[in-house]
Amino acid sequence: MTSSFQSPRAARPPGFIYRDTKHGLLRRDGPPVLHCENVPIPKLVKKYGTPLYLYSAGMIHERYAVFDRAFRDIDHTICYSVKANSNLGILRLLARKGCGFDVVSGGELQRVLAADKKAAKRVVFSGVGKTREELTAALKSEIMLFNVESESELWALAECAGRLHTTAPVALRVNPDVAAETHPYISTGLHKHKFGVPIRDARELYHKLSSARYLKVRGVSVHIGSQITDAAPFGQAMSRVADLVGELREDGHSIAYVDAGGGLGISYEKPASNFSEEVTAYARALTGPLRDLGVRLLLEPGRSIVGPAGVLVTSVVYKKANNGKRFLVVDAAMNDLIRPALYGAHHEIVPILQRTDAGIKPETVDIVGPICETGDFFARDRQMSGVEEGDLLAILDAGAYGMALASNYNTRPRAAELLVAGTSAKVIRRREKISDLLRDEL
Ligand SMILES: *Cc1c(COP(=O)(O)O)cnc(C)c1O
Repeated sequence: MTSSFQSPRAARPPGFIYRDTKHGLLRRDGPPVLHCENVPIPKLVKKYGTPLYLYSAGMIHERYAVFDRAFRDIDHTICYSVKANSNLGILRLLARKGCGFDVVSGGELQRVLAADKKAAKRVVFSGVGKTREELTAALKSEIMLFNVESESELWALAECAGRLHTTAPVALRVNPDVAAETHPYISTGLHKHKFGVPIRDARELYHKLSSARYLKVRGVSVHIGSQITDAAPFGQAMSRVADLVGELREDGHSIAYVDAGGGLGISYEKPASNFSEEVTAYARALTGPLRDLGVRLLLEPGRSIVGPAGVLVTSVVYKKANNGKRFLVVDAAMNDLIRPALYGAHHEIVPILQRTDAGIKPETVDIVGPICETGDFFARDRQMSGVEEGDLLAILDAGAYGMALASNYNTRPRAAELLVAGTSAKVIRRREKISDLLRDEL
C-alpha cells in the first residue's frame, strides 16, 4: 500500500516528510527525499549505514505534550512505559519534560536512574515476576509505587521492605476481566491471563495487606493490554476500578493513586490519524468514571508516545523473482524489527526517494530480510513503485517495540539509533560490531 504517500507533503506527521532538497548528495532537480525533521535521510545513511533506527525528538515531545494536555482536568502523572523503547537518549528527553516511568525489571529501573537520578520518585514498577533483588533495588531507590500482581509478591515485598526498615507503597494490579480487541499475545485484561489479581479477590487481599507492617496501601492499578484502538474497554475497566476504589475506601483504605496502565493503540495501516482527537477520547473514557474520586491518575503510555516517532531505514540488497513472485531482499531483518514475524503486524514501507517519473509501474512484492526463516518478512504482497537494488526504504511506525525487541539472531549486530532534532542528529546507540557479540563468549 503506498496509499498514504501519494501526496508528498500532506500525508505524514511532521517528523518524517518528503521535501525537495538542495543538500549535498542529491541533485536539485531530483525526486523529493524523505527527511527526518530537517535532515535528509540519505545523508544520515551515508554516515551511519543501514539498518538504521531514526527517531524524531520533536514528535516525541509533541506526542507527550498532547497526552499531558488531554488529561489537564485531572491530577495526573505520565509514566512512560520504558519497555516500548528504552534507549537512554529517549528516556532523558522525556525525563527533562518531567515525565515519570513505568518499569518492568530491575534493568529498566537502572536505565531510568542512569537517565535521571531524580526520576525515581516518578517510577512505578509493574510485572508478574519481580525478584527479591529487583524489589530491594526499587525500595532503595524510593520509587513512587509498586504494582503488585499476586499475594506471594506482596509477602516478598513485605519481607524486602522489612529488611530495609522501610515501607513499600503498594497498589494491587487488578484484572478487570474486560475483553479488548487486540492481538492475543498483547491482550492482558481477561481472567485467563497471567496478569494481576482477579478484581473480585482484590478487597480481601487489600484487607490482608493493610495489616502488614512494611506495606502501605496507596492505590489500585490496571492494564488491559496493548495496541487497543477503541476507547470503550478502557472506560469499562476504569469504571470497575472506580467501584473498587469506593469499596476500598469504605473498608478504610486510603487510595491516592489510580494507575490506568498503558495500551492506547496507533494506526499502523491508515494514513496518519488525528492523535489529539484519539487521546482526547481516551482521556474522556478514563476520567469519566474517576470524577469526584479525588485520586491522582497514573498513565503508562508506551507505543502511543514513541511508535510513530521512529522509522527503521533499510537498503534493498537484491530484487528477485521465484516463479513470478517478486521479492525485495533488504538488509534489515526480523532481528531488527520482529513485529511482523511475531504478531503478523503491518508496517507501512515507503521509498526514501519518491520517484514519480512517468512510466514507473507499481509492482507487487514481498519485502523480506536475509534471515533463514520464512517468518523473516516486513510486508507481503505490497505494492511498491520504482524501487531498485541499492535504494533505501523506511519502515514506518517502528519507534515502539522495534529496537527494544531486537536480537542478535544469525549473529547480526544490532542497528545504530539516532535521535534527530531539527537539523541535528545524535547517535544514541552505536552500531554493534561482531566483536561486541563475541566478547562475552568463552
Ligand atoms: C506494556 C505495558 C505498558 C505500555 O503499553 P503500550 O501499549 O506500549 O502503551 C504499560 N503498562 C504495563 C504494565 C505494560 O505491561
